This record gives sequence, structure tokens and C-alpha cells, in this order.
Amino acid sequence: MTNKPPSKQDQYHQKRMQRKKAQIDASIAKADIEKGVMLVVTGNGKGKSTSAFGMVARALGHGLRVGVCQFIKSRTDTGEEAFFRQQENVEWHVLGDGFTWDTQDRQGDIDSAKRGWQVAETMLQDSRFDLVVLDELTYLLSLDYLDKEPVLSALAKRPAQQHVVVTGRSAIVELKDMADTVSDIRDEKHAYTSGIKAQQGVDW
Ligand code: ATP
Ligand code: MG
Repeated sequence: MTNKPPSKQDQYHQKRMQRKKAQIDASIAKADIEKGVMLVVTGNGKGKSTSAFGMVARALGHGLRVGVCQFIKSRTDTGEEAFFRQQENVEWHVLGDGFTWDTQDRQGDIDSAKRGWQVAETMLQDSRFDLVVLDELTYLLSLDYLDKEPVLSALAKRPAQQHVVVTGRSAIVELKDMADTVSDIRDEKHAYTSGIKAQQGVDW
């Protein structure tokens, strides 16, 4: 290997990276608050629930304890449920009766939302859960199946170190306002619109 002297471009790059590193280090040093964060993953694009389950995997990898409540949907044959149920440290609840257009029963859906919310509320009061995922919770608020106030208050009063992830389209503004991180996933393109059916391992 020849030891070529660094070119002007290489020297310029190194200087620029030194300056960049100093800026990044300073910015990292400023973010020194340790707390349970609330995340809202919303929007019409694909990836909301899968993002939440990615965080479940991360948390479990660190030995944290996780609670998952899945609202609206009733299917219990998903890959995520099969996989995470094999893990210690996860409590998993499927609390929905199915899509609103399948049940066609608003009062039944509301009763089921209220029963489901009680499970979630218990988790939000239990500091043994380091991470709580409330998958598709947004609909229970945007459709007025649950009263906003008690839900927002339970989220606000959760243990200080507990992380909570809320997913679903059309998150109400109050949820986004109280969250620390909000991601709005945009639908640029989805296989389904080209006639490709939901794929095992990708979509469920
Ligand atoms: P995923 O669970 O794949 O992360 P998601 O949570 O972002 O999706 P949901 O509204 O919960 O989205 O929908 C779940 C199912 O609908 C998945 O099979 C997903 O691939 C599909 N889906 C999500 N977004 C779209 C879209 N824009 N068009 C068509 N199908 C979609
Ligand atoms: Mg989802």
C-alpha cells in the first residue's frame, strides 16, 4: 500500500468533518434529559404499527418490559403476535372486534373500545411496564368511541420513565400536542393499489 499524501479535497473533507463533529457533539451534550417519551406515529402511509413493533424489539433486546394493546383489529394470526408472544417480558392483548366496516355495529365497537381501554389504562398505571404500545388507539378518539379527557389524562399521568407509542391514522391534535415525538407517515405509493394483496411477513 502506498502512503499518498492527502489531497486538497481530502484535507478539506477532514476539516469539515471536524467542525461537523464538534457541532454534533455539542448538540448531543445539550439533549441530556432522561424521561419516558410519548410517540405518535400517524398518517396514511404504511409503517405505523411496524415502527411500534420495531421499538418493542429494541426494548426487549435491552431486557425492558413491554405491554402491547391492539385496538380495532381482531386478528390474532399476525407474525408480530406469534413472534413477540414467544418472548419473555411481553404482555400482548388483541382488544378489537374487527374493522368498523366488518362489524357494522357502532355500539358494540364502543363497548369493546371501553373494555380495551381499561386494559391499556392498567398498563399506564403500572411502572413495571417500560414501554406501552397502544396500536390503533387514534381511531378510538377520532371516532369518539372514548372520551378524550380520561385518555389524555391517563397518558399524562403515566409513570415518569414509561415510554408510550400510539399508532393509527388521523391522530387528534391533543394527542400530537402532548407527544414528544410525532411522525406523520405519508402514503407515496402502496402495493395494494396495484392489486397486490397483503403479504404474509410484510403486511401481517
Ligand atoms: P403496518 O402494520 O404495515 O405498519 P400501518 O400500521 O401503517 O401498517 P394500518 O392502517 O394499521 O397501517 O394498516 C395495516 C394494513 O394496511 C397493513 O397490511 C398495511 O400494509 C396496509 N396499509 C397501510 N397503509 C396502506 C395504504 N396507504 N394503502 C393500502 N394499504 C395500506
Ligand atoms: Mg397499524
